[in-house]
Amino acid sequence: MDYSVLAEVYEKLESVPSKLAKADILAEFLKNVPTSELHKVVLLVQGRAFPGYSEQELGIASQTMIKAISKATGLNTSRVEEKFKKTGDLGLTAEECIKSKKQSTLLRRKLTLDHVFENMKKLATITGSGSQERKLSLIAELIVSAKPNEARYIVRTILGDLRVGVAEGIIRDAIVNSFLEHSTKEEKEKSAAAVENAWSMINDPGEVAKIAKEKGIKGLEKIGVQLGKPLQVMLGVAAEKIEDVVEEFGEVFAEYKYDGMRVVIQKKGNHIWLFTRRQEDVTRQFPDIVELVRKCLKADECIVEGEALGIDPKTGYPLPFQTLGQRVHRKYDIERMAKEIPVQVNLFDVMYVDGKSLFNEPLKERRKELMKIVKPIEGKFQAAKNIYTKDLKKLEKFYEEALKNRQEGIMLKVPDTPYVFGRHVGTMYKIKPTMENLDLVVIGATWGEGTRARWLTSYMLACRDEGTGKLLECGMISTGLSEGEYKQTTQMLKPLIIREEGRTVWVKPKIIMEVGYQEIQKSPNYSSGFALRFPRFIRFRQIDKSEPDSLDRVIALFKSQGRAG
Ligand code: AMP
Repeated sequence: MDYSVLAEVYEKLESVPSKLAKADILAEFLKNVPTSELHKVVLLVQGRAFPGYSEQELGIASQTMIKAISKATGLNTSRVEEKFKKTGDLGLTAEECIKSKKQSTLLRRKLTLDHVFENMKKLATITGSGSQERKLSLIAELIVSAKPNEARYIVRTILGDLRVGVAEGIIRDAIVNSFLEHSTKEEKEKSAAAVENAWSMINDPGEVAKIAKEKGIKGLEKIGVQLGKPLQVMLGVAAEKIEDVVEEFGEVFAEYKYDGMRVVIQKKGNHIWLFTRRQEDVTRQFPDIVELVRKCLKADECIVEGEALGIDPKTGYPLPFQTLGQRVHRKYDIERMAKEIPVQVNLFDVMYVDGKSLFNEPLKERRKELMKIVKPIEGKFQAAKNIYTKDLKKLEKFYEEALKNRQEGIMLKVPDTPYVFGRHVGTMYKIKPTMENLDLVVIGATWGEGTRARWLTSYMLACRDEGTGKLLECGMISTGLSEGEYKQTTQMLKPLIIREEGRTVWVKPKIIMEVGYQEIQKSPNYSSGFALRFPRFIRFRQIDKSEPDSLDRVIALFKSQGRAG
């Protein structure tokens, strides 16, 4: 397929804001994509060269892209930068640069989808000396042959910022509409459920599309658990009071809420895999957990889930989440780190045991199955501490005990509900002490003054409007960080800078901070319409969390404080 076909679809997608319209455009397109190219196409429409869970990254900085555009178009870098300043978007910059170089049309070869995809994949594998130069050549090679609109999307995809608004839900709808027959509402729901099932199990939208096309609804329904592939975990919601949950559901499981790293453990004979909530494979980084799994999980095959907590070897208390986080992306000194930051695994769910899928079983049953296969080592590998009751006094006491043991709070879980992959569910509630913190993404920052002039010391935070996908400002934060954390933040933000205006920089939205505050106020100064009063930094969240909180959540919290006041 020619890349220009995809570029045309991107243009259509970009021009309509509505999700329904986007799903229709995508469905029409997918119908005509040859099966052999479906996998690539589904990745590319999401702006990816690798599935979401892959550890591979294209890793291209804006500066490299500016050089690549310059090399491909013959315009010098300062001209490219000038255009970039005006557009704020390197994709549009590349497009304009190509338009302004009319004579280059003669040199163009037609770009195929394969060529673009292969070059992108190569970018992730190039390392070592001279790697920047080689990456630059691969990108320039594509831009030289690209039509203006093709260049726009190639550049954006490589920078990880495609901006055509194709979220997962849209792909699901498009798969249903393009490949599965349905004439009634019920049939459509059945098709959607089959896509959902396959998606949960294999977590690879391109593969799901292929199965839908080749084997239809039956093929999708048949897909079972695939060991060794990461799953999308079930997510809870916040509740304000224990009694609200008990009033609605009666008896509940209350469990400690541990502040560590969520870990999905998969076992198939001698093979063991550990995945995070973001579906990263962290097996290599945690040989100590692997060892514990060998000793303590009595099943040939299983998938269980829990929270790995860093434990202070001196006090036995949990270590702050960030300390454990140091182990997550470690490539060297893994054994030493395992000794310095020992872990404790607290299991709270099981989805599969020896050929039997359990996710549709009620939590009550799953808990029983879990207890059957865990042979605990106290303090190291055990079931999460829990009680089962509707007695408010007992629950309050349990909550206090959790806090006294320096855990984050408790979770309340409804006993007769299934495991739902990848969703926030209204059957699992978090209870934490203060006004709920917000997870917000840093989109800009300002250089400090005096002795701090070399650090970025205040940060513009944003939440996401889930309707439009846009990031909306909710205020600046500059307190709560230690000197070391200012430095760390500066180091993390520098490679993400996309634009500078005086002392202010704008950055790619990658760094998520958990932010505490006193209250949320309405504010015309920020694009969300809200500002945080007395915001303070609590911790980084980028390691185990990929998305900032939604505008809806900000609004809900704003309203809830209104009721309380
Ligand atoms: P939050 O990150 O504040 O949205 O809280 C949800 C996270 O709490 C989950 O992703 C888990 O990593 C963690 N967690 C800790 N203890 C539990 C538990 N007992 N049950 C479920 N999740 C837990």
